[in-house]
Order: sequence, then structure tokens, then C-alpha cells
Amino acid sequence: MNNLFIIDSHCHLDSLDYETRHKDVDEVIDNAKARGVHHFISICTTVGRFEGMKQLTAHRPEVSLSCGVHPLNVEDEPFDYDRLFTYCQDPRVVAVGETGLDYHYTPETKALQQSLFTQQIEIAKLVKKPLIIHTRSAREDTMAMLEQGQADQCGGVLHCFTEDWAMAKRALDLGFYISISGIITFRNAEELRNVVRQVPLDRLLVETDSPYLAPIPYRGKPNQPAYVREVCDYLATLKGISSEELARITTQNVQNLFKITL
Ligand SMILES: [Zn+2]
Ligand SMILES: [Zn+2]
Repeated sequence: MNNLFIIDSHCHLDSLDYETRHKDVDEVIDNAKARGVHHFISICTTVGRFEGMKQLTAHRPEVSLSCGVHPLNVEDEPFDYDRLFTYCQDPRVVAVGETGLDYHYTPETKALQQSLFTQQIEIAKLVKKPLIIHTRSAREDTMAMLEQGQADQCGGVLHCFTEDWAMAKRALDLGFYISISGIITFRNAEELRNVVRQVPLDRLLVETDSPYLAPIPYRGKPNQPAYVREVCDYLATLKGISSEELARITTQNVQNLFKITL
């Protein structure tokens, strides 16, 4: 049954609970592998956390990294452009982010979010690596900044997608991918399912966003990369193909976008 090869395209391995829930990162990865999840992109949310993430996963070649500043973390530390630029050139770093705009939780930092987003688009183009975009309650500004910043030159992904078809279409037109999290399995996500039905298979990725947003039947519990299997199975049914086929296609998409050779 296990000839699946799924990639969790977005998890925060440095934010899992290693005190009470998991023994260590190896246990998390081995759990996932037992369920057909064989590669992981672990996402940084501040520049200051990068070294720690790198060390935590240094002995696991199946973990690729991103580096960037999350829009909800723009005030955590002074922005260090040069340091981020250097980290983004690290061979283990396959993407810049997660970056973007979140006006839902922190509208008061809008100006700073926009400034850091612009600079991270710039870095992505310079290092020739794609962007990982977080967007919430900021549709118009997110897309306008990507378009004006000519982010089509580096490409990227709208992660944990929960937006409407107009936004999906605009992202697809820019050459971007759309990543689907456990939210797709939620009962109240019918609108999202209707959007995802229209997204071409060759532009879809799957993710957990662990430790957040666990899919059904784990909703409300801490998430982990092993559960991307539920997202894969659910999305396969939605698209009318087998889980093996969905895994094969989304793995190929991750390889195309992030230039990962397995
Ligand atoms: Zn996010
Ligand atoms: Zn995230």
C-alpha cells in the first residue's frame, strides 16, 4: 500500500511540541515516512530562527528549508536585509518566505509588512528562488505587490490557500502555484472546494502547516507532517484520481517549483 511519495510543502518543524508530544524531530519524520511522506519543506518565520532550524534538521537530508519573515512576525526583531540575503543563498534553502501580508491579525503593522514583503520579493529575484506567500484579509494588496514587483520572474506559491477563484486565477496567471492544507477537509470549506476543483493539477501542492490546522479527523489537535496524507487523500477524491496519482503529480510540482532533486 505504501508506494506513495508525498512531500509536505509547508511545515514548521521548529515549532512542534518536543516537550510533551514528540520525542524529537526524527520521530516526527519517521512517523511521516511510515505514511508515505518522504520530503519536507520546513519554513522559517524570522531570520533569527534560521540557524536553529538549520541545526535541528542538519542530519536529515529529506528536509529542505526556507528563510524569510512572516507578516505576523515583522516586529519580532529589526529587519536585517543582508543576513536574510546571505541565508537565502544557503544551498539547503529552496525558497524565500514565508512572507506576504496579514491584515486580519495585525492591521497596525501594515506599512512594515509591505516594506518587508517588497524587500523579500527583491531577494527572491536576486537569488533566483521562489516565494512562499502567506496572505490573509489582504487579497488586493498581495496580488498588486506581486505583480508590480514582477514576482513572475522568481515564481512562488500561495500557501494554505483559502481565497476565492478570482485570486487563484490571478496567481495562476502570474505562474504561481496554490498549496492546499487541512482546511480543505473542514465541513464548512465548500466554497474553497469549489475553487480548488478549478485549479489545474499541475499547479497544486499539499501541505500541513504543522503544528497548525490539523485536517479532519485530527482537527483541533496539534498538526504534524504525517497528516499531509489526509490532505492528499481528500484532494485526490476531490479531483477524481487516486492518492498515488495525486502524490506523484504534487511531488513533481514541488520539484519543479523549488528545484529539488530527490
Ligand atoms: Zn502562513
Ligand atoms: Zn506557515
